[in-house]
Amino acid sequence: MGGGSGPVAGMTVRSGCGHDGPAAGMTADETRGQRAGAGWGAEGWGDGGLRRSAPVLLVIQPITRRLCAECRSGPRSLLVWEEGAPRCLDCADLGHLVFLPRGHSALTRRSREESGLSAVVVRFNRRKSRYERQGVLVEEAALALAEERCLADAEARRRRRVRDARRRAAEDVRFTDAFAREIRRLYPRCPAERALAIAAHASLRGSGRVGRSAAGRALSGTAVASAVRASVRHKETPYDRLLMSGVPRHEARRRIAGVVEATLREWGGAPP
Ligand SMILES: [Zn+2]
Repeated sequence: MGGGSGPVAGMTVRSGCGHDGPAAGMTADETRGQRAGAGWGAEGWGDGGLRRSAPVLLVIQPITRRLCAECRSGPRSLLVWEEGAPRCLDCADLGHLVFLPRGHSALTRRSREESGLSAVVVRFNRRKSRYERQGVLVEEAALALAEERCLADAEARRRRRVRDARRRAAEDVRFTDAFAREIRRLYPRCPAERALAIAAHASLRGSGRVGRSAAGRALSGTAVASAVRASVRHKETPYDRLLMSGVPRHEARRRIAGVVEATLREWGGAPP
């Protein structure tokens, strides 16, 4: 494996800065042949881009047990590589920061924006022979503020969804009303509540939700007539029972046709 690539080197190479960075690795493999240096790198790795970006303070999740070179405490789960030696966060003056694991990009971005001091936590992936970002260290107050903002955003999205749902519901009501009026225009003696029921059923399928043109098509004379006819077939005739008892559909339709036409005439429909 490549071995000697420290996080700074690995990152700067990929971010296109072109200089050889110091070792920040924790194993002999990782550190072999590397010069000492501070835990600063350049960001911009992982996006596949070649852009240069602001330097970033790097904190390592060591893959071997390491003590702090300064206070000898440890092994520590997070270390900063400073002047060729690992230091714990307390010795590196980062002890007050809190860890935010990767995975929530908006929260991460906002936390870092709000944080006067922040660091990126990386861990060496031996198999891929490169450092991978694990999360960030930020000020607790910054994280709290960022969480509030993300929650506010989520709340704003929730409210928008509620408004959208209300608008769609209002559209559905308008569509149902229009459909019922059209039924009553074509079948003046169709009971009002029956017209509304047929319209409500139709709006479940072809409502304003589908868009204005689909709603318009649904309100055409043919569409209204076929919705009414279907309703009569199922409610005023033994059509469903015939089907259930094994009568073929066309035969069942033939048998009930008289009742359907009689009902439509009764409701004042124009003869077909
Ligand atoms: Zn220490």
